[in-house]
Amino acid sequence: MDKKDKQRKEGQAHKDKMRQWNERYQTYIKELDQESYSGKDLGAIYHPSRTSFRVWAPTAVYVKVNLYKEGQGDCLIHQIDMKKDESGTFLARVEGDLKGLYYTYLVAKKEGIDEAVDPYAKAVGVNGERGMIVDLSSTNPKGWAEDVRPKLSHFTDAVIYEVHVRDVSSDPSSHIVNTGRFLGLAETGTTNDAGFATGLDHMKELGITHLHLMPAFDFATIDESKTVPVQYNWGYDPKNYNVPEGSYSSDPFHGEVRIREMKSIIQALHAGGIRVVLDVVYNHTERAKDSNFNKIVPDYYYRMEDMKYTNGSACGNEMASERSMVRKFIVDSVCYWAKEYHLDGFRFDLMGLHDITTMNEIREKVNAIDPTILLYGEGWCGGESPLPLKDRASKANAPLLDAIAVFSDDIRDAIKGSVFVPEEKGFVHGAYGLEDVIRFGMAGGVRHPQVHREFWASSPSQCINYVSAHDDYTLWDKLTLADPGASEKKRIRMNKLAAAIILTSQGIPFLMAGEELLRTKPGDECGERFDSNSYISSDAINSIKWNDKTRHHEVFSYYQGLIAFRKKHPVLRLTTQKAVANQMHFLKGLERNVVGCILTDWDQNETICILHNGRKLRSDVALPAGKWNVYVDDEKAGVSPLYTIEGGHVTVKATSSMVLIKIQ
Ligand code: CA
Repeated sequence: MDKKDKQRKEGQAHKDKMRQWNERYQTYIKELDQESYSGKDLGAIYHPSRTSFRVWAPTAVYVKVNLYKEGQGDCLIHQIDMKKDESGTFLARVEGDLKGLYYTYLVAKKEGIDEAVDPYAKAVGVNGERGMIVDLSSTNPKGWAEDVRPKLSHFTDAVIYEVHVRDVSSDPSSHIVNTGRFLGLAETGTTNDAGFATGLDHMKELGITHLHLMPAFDFATIDESKTVPVQYNWGYDPKNYNVPEGSYSSDPFHGEVRIREMKSIIQALHAGGIRVVLDVVYNHTERAKDSNFNKIVPDYYYRMEDMKYTNGSACGNEMASERSMVRKFIVDSVCYWAKEYHLDGFRFDLMGLHDITTMNEIREKVNAIDPTILLYGEGWCGGESPLPLKDRASKANAPLLDAIAVFSDDIRDAIKGSVFVPEEKGFVHGAYGLEDVIRFGMAGGVRHPQVHREFWASSPSQCINYVSAHDDYTLWDKLTLADPGASEKKRIRMNKLAAAIILTSQGIPFLMAGEELLRTKPGDECGERFDSNSYISSDAINSIKWNDKTRHHEVFSYYQGLIAFRKKHPVLRLTTQKAVANQMHFLKGLERNVVGCILTDWDQNETICILHNGRKLRSDVALPAGKWNVYVDDEKAGVSPLYTIEGGHVTVKATSSMVLIKIQ
């Protein structure tokens, strides 16, 4: 046998082995799916006189509950045998008041014996190494029963503001006392060095409706037991899904503290008229082989092929949302947060890795809690996934998702140039050929007779319009990289034009916190000018520099004015595709790189004209006759008219927007 022949035979043998393994694996998964448990009592259910523990572990030989005095260290109090119960679960009922004790499961199966944290744990000790038995009612801050969600009539009324908990308070200019913690988000009366509002007061002043918290559930990469040296991480590395992150609390050692503190900031934000969204990462876990899920039911929770974890998340593994007990876990988790923490929305990281059925089930179950809860996600994956394209909760499949929105990378890249090509220019830099994409974004991603790009949103409420988020370069840095020769004054014009497009478009606008202060993330010592992936960078790079509000107050006021204008005029927040197609008419015969539309609101008897000029020169646009009040121009934006012009035509200055309302 020659060498080639041998290689071919070995290759074939390997293929056969993998095929057989894959078949056995699918059978294993099918059998486990058939042993699903549908009850609502998974986890530790506390009662002052007894606690019940139930865990789904269909392949286990035996399971024991370990009870500990503390969340770490050698302090085992008691070990309790669990009894095999219905549908693959093990159950133990323990008499007495177990409040404040910590617990784990000892799971024996053919692969070995492992100690695991309950995936359904509602409280944990430091670093999430043990679950805690918690009396949830005792974690409620004062007045919690009276906490109500601020009013939201339509999803398109939302203005989302994305923050990282630390970034808000880690720069001294915030003058927030609770540096880097949940409680920093609830402080009021804080100002920068010049007396301009910071933190919560700033958000209220800006006029946002939704505060989007980057991962604030328990993540793995920060050692909660140490505050020195300062550690930083975005938190896209989930450890315990149903528990707040300990490093954001004032005491990560006592499991109830972080719960109370997170609830108290949600309460404070609600009192300030702001709803709260949690960024959730159900697409992967920080650990795979030795994750808690795997220690309890080996290889069930993750997608596998050829004996390996598939990597659609680019983080080493991907959760198999389409399997019944994974789906149940995700649905239960979202509902738990919505109910117990009064959360108002969820942003799904790499939602394209979740199957449509799971996402729609989340919508259905969340509706029973409150149908105004906002659901949106990234309609893409991070890598190759075995989940069939037709099943993915992706942007292309948005029409199959029930009232779940996706991010519009279309408008993002059209405005500022592709995030993957730093030097690429966008509409605001004066790049040509982007008019149709801008119109697509202005129409909220829905079908419109004057837009030729293939639509994906079935209603504007499915379209999240944005030009910057935590990923990639900040808007300000991208504007610079794509046009290094432009003066600061010119780049400010570009930034304002970008903001005007996002905040006057149909759909749901989304801002990265600090965009309104020209937020920049300077590069580190490695020689990069700016930081495009600051997930472990320092506070110095990531923090919001509140003193920039003094220097760039004009830009802040512009964002504030645009938000106020948007909130005042319902025609900017249309709720159906039909309304957009009927009430939004794009102007024809404009110069290249100029886009404009007329919005007609028959109910309010109002005609609004929106013009965006991406050219480096002014543009004269024909306007219907009559008198028009100008509310937005290159300098200012707001709800009061700046000045009045005669119709016929209007001049839009270079790199700027104009918004006008016809005087009836
Ligand atoms: Ca943690």
